[in-house]
Amino acid sequence: MISEREALQRVLANVSPLGIQTTRLEQALDAFAGSEIVATIPIPGFDQSSMDGYALRSKDVTMDRLLVTGEQPAGRDLGLLCEAGSCIRIFTGAPIPHGADAVIMQEDVMRDGNSIHCLDRVEQGENLRPMGADVCVGQIILRRGERLTPARLSLLASQGLTEIDTVQKPRVAVLTTGDELAPPGSGPLAAGQIYNSNAIMIASLLQRLGISHIRTAHCADDLEETMRCLDHLSNSHDAVILSGGVSVGDHDQVKPALKKLGIEPELWRVKVKPGKPFLFAKGQRAHVFGLPGNPVSSFVTFSLFVRPALLRLMGASDSEIEPSMLLAPLAETLHNEGDRPHYIRGTLVKGCFKSSGMQQSHALHALARADALLRMEAGETIEAGSYGKVWQLH
Ligand code: AMP
Ligand code: MG
Repeated sequence: MISEREALQRVLANVSPLGIQTTRLEQALDAFAGSEIVATIPIPGFDQSSMDGYALRSKDVTMDRLLVTGEQPAGRDLGLLCEAGSCIRIFTGAPIPHGADAVIMQEDVMRDGNSIHCLDRVEQGENLRPMGADVCVGQIILRRGERLTPARLSLLASQGLTEIDTVQKPRVAVLTTGDELAPPGSGPLAAGQIYNSNAIMIASLLQRLGISHIRTAHCADDLEETMRCLDHLSNSHDAVILSGGVSVGDHDQVKPALKKLGIEPELWRVKVKPGKPFLFAKGQRAHVFGLPGNPVSSFVTFSLFVRPALLRLMGASDSEIEPSMLLAPLAETLHNEGDRPHYIRGTLVKGCFKSSGMQQSHALHALARADALLRMEAGETIEAGSYGKVWQLH
């Protein structure tokens, strides 16, 4: 059995980013930048007011009265001039009139007809946003491999851009296996049946990554059917994520089906709990991930191996792939008596990790309550109050 670290390295060694395409910003959310973007216009684009008030020469503020000689709203630059002893009525985002070096807030003046009396001082540059203070021309505003978040899309729009090079998003198939599974909504269960809960979990984890082309399918524990489904899906998708059927039971058909299709597993079985039977193979087109059927095992192996692989496929940089880990004190003493690293499901309450209930690999309820996973080494004990390595999930 191989270690988690080696398994991840071997998976990633088989994954490289998909091709680059031009995407409209409206369609680019959660894709990864395919190239670097350099600013071509400064932000702000001109010296502007950050307040509603009066633009003036800061040293004039001590004068008894200042004459209001014009008004500059946000919009077209009227080319006004602020002369000594005068001021210009101005609004947020409006260009600063020539000669003015500060803006006094309207709350800090008394207006009397055509003049104002300043009730407070202003420093030179106060309430003013200088041109280029946020972004200057030539500055890198987006790096290759960075995720296109709402704020980053907004930054690109502020440069007047309408499209961007992104790495293509993968087409992903989720293939659940198991004779015992019934789709939710298909009516009451017959004896021995359970509802298929992994399909929605895996599809939702994919959506979280920003993947939208997701096909879900199901096949029985039957070699021919598994082969047919796998063959079709692996030729039409960039990744196929299988759930169940990947162990050594008589009804586990994933390995035999892959073998018959000539797809050699790159790895099978990893030293991790839950999730030992995890399998990875590289087909002609598709990357094939075999997740154990137990729901928590599926979730953990998806997080450990599938997530980074898909992000790499989507062109994410290493830092975007890095999980968000922190050190947190434990609310209780925990032991890992097993011989594999164990990911304990739990919650972070006021910065302390607390396990969230039953920790067996089928126990979906504790997983559903969890917002963090504590990684415990084989044989490790962590005392209450001592720090453990915690992976934040959301
Ligand atoms: P397997 O990996 O196929 O041996 O399945 C291990 C356990 O996970 C069994 O108890 C299965 O019933 C359960 N299981 C498998 N697939 C799913 C699924 N899609 N949803 C919920 N439970 C599942
Ligand atoms: Mg099964």
